Amino acid sequence: MDCERFRRMISKKLDGELSRDDELLLSKHLEVCPDCSRFFALTEQSNELYRGMAEVEVPGTILPAIIAETTAKERTNVFLPRWLKVAVAAASIVTVLAGIDIGKRLVDTYTSSDQVTLQETLGLDYLSENPPGSLGNALLASSGGGQDE
Ligand SMILES: [Zn+2]
Repeated sequence: MDCERFRRMISKKLDGELSRDDELLLSKHLEVCPDCSRFFALTEQSNELYRGMAEVEVPGTILPAIIAETTAKERTNVFLPRWLKVAVAAASIVTVLAGIDIGKRLVDTYTSSDQVTLQETLGLDYLSENPPGSLGNALLASSGGGQDE
């Protein structure tokens, strides 16, 4: 069985570019090949996830990174549809952006209160035993805490 060929067909099918004849061949193959059936189910799911993703405005500085990421590995990958690579890269970036946003909100929330220092909020008390010049000391200094010696 030429599974590689059928997987290309699956990719085409999801892009709506598969001919009727090939569609018939593919569905017959999927009935007898569990590997390709699994591949089809997985790609179809990812495709639906990708289509269901909200459109996000990507900052211009990140775009070259996406392009580099999705084109650099082109030759080393055995078989992975281009749209899937773009989707994976975009999803990672959305995750990072969401993380940055959540981080900012946390800091805003905790630093808005004058009674609580950032050091206490972040639980950096355990660092107070650190000698000058250590990473812990640097962390304390940067959080505005510091200690009396
Ligand atoms: Zn197969």
